[in-house]
Amino acid sequence: MEEEVAVGTAEVDAGLVRRWLAAAAAEIDREAGRLTELDSAIGDADHGSNMRRGSAAVVAALEREEPATPGAALVLAGRTLVSTVGGAAGPLYGTLLRGAGKDLGDVPSVSPEAFAEAMRAGVAAVARLGGAAAGDKTMLDALLPATEALPDVEAARRAATEGAVATVPLRARKGRASYLGERSVGHEDPGAASAALLFAALEQVVGEAAADG
Ligand code: ADP
Ligand code: MG
Repeated sequence: MEEEVAVGTAEVDAGLVRRWLAAAAAEIDREAGRLTELDSAIGDADHGSNMRRGSAAVVAALEREEPATPGAALVLAGRTLVSTVGGAAGPLYGTLLRGAGKDLGDVPSVSPEAFAEAMRAGVAAVARLGGAAAGDKTMLDALLPATEALPDVEAARRAATEGAVATVPLRARKGRASYLGERSVGHEDPGAASAALLFAALEQVVGEAAADG
């Protein structure tokens, strides 16, 4: 029973995507101070406020437009992030969600496996846009192992969190933190930390969906 909750056997529909992104927005709101603190060490101290503004706009857009399919919900969320977040993270997370949504197409619900595939397509689009790879000390260090572990949402959350922590000893090779060179070593990447919050939220809502039957 416990394991079924962890793996997530429920179909992914527009409602689950809406609940996921609302839960992610709540996590980001709670952790915004920590994200900004991380970004003040190796960036420009705006990651918490960027993510908070973007995720609140996503929640509002999803409530206003009520997209009927998981693909449409993800595309709308992605587009909203691109248009509301000025920092690097807006276009990157926007590309993640829009890429995943496009991959899902127009069906009313998808299997956890298809959702996992779509998320991996979204992550590939982030890597193309930002030109970063694993080990460059970016959000990809959380996103790559997490989406690899899907559809097991519990393993994905753990992989994302471990991936974020594992950025601490790395030297940044992409983004603003790369300007610091050696001085970027010893700090957790803010984008990897926020990516871990996305997967904590996913585990939470999939667990709730399983508990509700
Ligand atoms: P900005 O760097 O413009 O201030 P944010 O502070 O919101 O934007 O986001 C910074 C995060 O964006 C970094 O911690 C990193 O995870 C991510 N990032 C920056 N550049 C790249 C890139 N080229 N590829 C992937 N992720 C990146
Ligand atoms: Mg910043």
